[in-house]
Amino acid sequence: MKPLPKAEKLANVRYEVRGPVLDEAEKIAAAGHKILQLNTGNPAAFGFSAPQEILDIFAKESAKAQAYCPSKGVLEARRAVAAQMAKKGINGVTEDDVYIGNGASEMITICMQALLNPGDEMLIPAPDYPLWTAATNLAGGTAVHYMCDEQTNWSPDIADLRSKITPRSKAILVINPNNPTGALYSKEVLLEIAQIARENGLAIFADEIYDHLVMDGKEHTSIASLAPDVFCVTVNGLSKSHVICGYRVGWMAFSGDKTDAEGFIAGVNMLTSMRLCANVPAQKIIPAALNNFSETDAMIQPGGRVYEQRRTIVEAINSIPGLKTTMPDAAFYIFPRIDIKRFNISDDKQFVIDFLKAKHVLLVNGRGFNWPEPDHFRIVYLPPAHELATLSDKLGSFMADYRQ
Ligand code: PLP
Repeated sequence: MKPLPKAEKLANVRYEVRGPVLDEAEKIAAAGHKILQLNTGNPAAFGFSAPQEILDIFAKESAKAQAYCPSKGVLEARRAVAAQMAKKGINGVTEDDVYIGNGASEMITICMQALLNPGDEMLIPAPDYPLWTAATNLAGGTAVHYMCDEQTNWSPDIADLRSKITPRSKAILVINPNNPTGALYSKEVLLEIAQIARENGLAIFADEIYDHLVMDGKEHTSIASLAPDVFCVTVNGLSKSHVICGYRVGWMAFSGDKTDAEGFIAGVNMLTSMRLCANVPAQKIIPAALNNFSETDAMIQPGGRVYEQRRTIVEAINSIPGLKTTMPDAAFYIFPRIDIKRFNISDDKQFVIDFLKAKHVLLVNGRGFNWPEPDHFRIVYLPPAHELATLSDKLGSFMADYRQ
């Protein structure tokens, strides 16, 4: 047989969340050790569960959902998403503007394929949820990262974003609330980003998959609601809001001025039809799910697991000499800073591998989120508080004598 090397188009495609460090963890697990897997935001793996009503609908509908459905998705599901968009203040979205996917991930890769020609630039935050950069590179585009600022609780640096716009820029991505920082963006910042898009004729992509996991009574604003004149693609799904990552339910909705987006939309229609349709039983739960956020609401209130675990992890990390984290507003991640001089760290991937080997905990290094320096890492704080306390003890004792 001819050799089968990896296709050249994958040369710049990286997804460290499930990358080589996970392979290392699997080897350690195969040798009989238990690994605390904190590489993905996968709530059901830590004992969270969706409302029973949603699980019942999925079970009931499965038997009736054997046929393909339209490529854009089941009509009731698309109508429910359109109604949800209206609730978020995004006007004019109809079921024709909504596409249901096998998770938000599928929508993201389809969009980047439909949008980008070689050399086209996508403005992506740093740090980012790395699928966006990977999907941009896979599509032949160029990811241009604008910085988010830890000093302002990881808000986008607007001057930096402006400075990165070129004639090849096509769109601005906003991940709000953010993975990996847990930041929630203010209305003022979103208005500024919308204005930059407007002035430069750019589309906006908004990944809002954590919009129902906002704590402390703060409110999430959809950027599309502030930019009714700009073509926006809002991406969301049930993986996080209903803790059903495994069901693979996500969607995107188009809003704003579509006049210049016809070619892109035709591309999306072609690519969605090529994969026939998304998982049908999972789509059937969307209407009920969008009327029932009871379990998530409970977990983010004082006394709720996510809320309390956030306090536990932030206090614990900030008590370890050489580590410091901001207090996240949303989601279930922190992105602590490491004093790299103190530990002589130049390779953050080596740092997470060393910690994995020593303490059997799997983390993801900051550069895995396209952060340019080796001075951060991400913790998923989904395990119960007692496990987080053990994790921080392990991290504290590891850091006490770690030098690279
Ligand atoms: N967008 C962000 C910001 C995420 O953090 C994730 C998953 O962690 C996704 C999208 C993917 O979601 P889905 O499970 O719907 O594919």
